[in-house]
Amino acid sequence: MSEPTTSRRLADHTTTGVGGAARNWVRAETEAQAVQAITAADAAGEALFVLGGGSNTLMADAGFDGTVVQMAFTGIEVLSGDADAGAEGTAVVVRIAAGHVWDDAVAWSVQHELAGIEALSGIPGSAGATPVQNVGAYGADISQVLRSVRALDRESGQVVELGAEDLRFGYRDSIIKRSMTAGGAPSPRWIVLSIDLELLRAAHGAEATAPVRYGQLAKALDVEEGTHAPLATVRENVLALRGSKGMVSDPADRDTWSTGSYFTNPIVPASVRARLPEGAPAFGVGHAEDGTELVKLSAAWLIDHAGFKKGFGLPDVVPGEGEVDGRGADGRGLAGGRASLSTKHTLAITNRGDASTEDILTIARTVRDGVKERFGVELHAEPMIIGTSL
Ligand SMILES: Cc1cc2nc3c(=O)[nH]c(=O)nc-3n(C[C@H](O)[C@H](O)[C@H](O)COP(=O)(O)OP(=O)(O)OC[C@H]3O[C@@H](n4cnc5c(N)ncnc54)[C@H](O)[C@@H]3O)c2cc1C
Repeated sequence: MSEPTTSRRLADHTTTGVGGAARNWVRAETEAQAVQAITAADAAGEALFVLGGGSNTLMADAGFDGTVVQMAFTGIEVLSGDADAGAEGTAVVVRIAAGHVWDDAVAWSVQHELAGIEALSGIPGSAGATPVQNVGAYGADISQVLRSVRALDRESGQVVELGAEDLRFGYRDSIIKRSMTAGGAPSPRWIVLSIDLELLRAAHGAEATAPVRYGQLAKALDVEEGTHAPLATVRENVLALRGSKGMVSDPADRDTWSTGSYFTNPIVPASVRARLPEGAPAFGVGHAEDGTELVKLSAAWLIDHAGFKKGFGLPDVVPGEGEVDGRGADGRGLAGGRASLSTKHTLAITNRGDASTEDILTIARTVRDGVKERFGVELHAEPMIIGTSL
């Protein structure tokens, strides 16, 4: 979460460090302030953007002609169970305020020996944004522990409670996200005010109760996949693995000036997999409504094998050669080394210094088009792109 600042530039509040200014800016330090500001913007017919930690947002360079409400209220409340004592496996339900830094909440759970979210260590951003795209990593996702959310329903103006099943979670998806992407709105119908998680007390000081569900993590922990490991060790290892890939926000490391994975892993009919070269990773993910077998491909593999290696960037336009008003021949501008793929991971598009949103998108378009041309597979952006498009 960005520190309090009077800046209205999204570049100062997002992990990629790009994006123009908002016309109005409200930093909501309490839930009541957030509800008031959102309701007032909606009543005035103002465009609204709700911001958490800015780690999954790409705002247009032109900025936002409306009100940005920054969710800055924090807090963790134990709703049932005892956070400090109890038998192994006992449920403890906690309510986390929307503006609480997600990783602080994970650290809190590990300190209290409560299992369930330790594999989600190091994901930047706010707790309130975690259900929006059903954040996940290392075989875990928030849908596995989320009981419900309290949210402001902008359609009715009421604060409502939505259970996990109401949120219709999918891979990096939920009904909250779909309420934006389906209608092209900059903010969802439901604004999350707090999330309720059901965590389980781990054996005292010993084994976590959440199974390790990811091969690479199991290997780092030296345990069998599907078995357990001490909570603090899981957290430490996840943070180290993420750090090695530039997937923990660190202002000193340009490889982390990103939105994390820029593209989701494409889910395609199994027949598409059959056309890909041998060695292309694919995981069965069930069937479409019409019975077609579906597989999930690795976006990182596709990008790498389409020729976009770690650190891939685009040069500046040579003046006079195809330059159109200082932009590339296609009129979109070239990134000029200001943006590139992370040098640690092909999935992240990073700001190397003074990149604009358009620079980031230029890299994204080049990669997306290159993968489509090479493999015939469409990549889709994971972050929310506001006021411009890929
Ligand atoms: C280095 C790095 C690594 C990452 N790794 C992962 C990862 O492993 N797994 C993963 O899933 N994601 C990952 N991400 C993406 C990102 O951290 C998550 O999506 C995170 O949940 C976004 O939180 P935020 O508060 O920063 O959201 P923001 O960028 O502030 O907002 C994202 C979207 O959610 C909406 N939103 C924000 N708060 C609310 C709210 N309270 N109610 C309703 N809508 C809201 C916004 O309007 C916007 O549309 C990574 C990002 C970075 C920079």
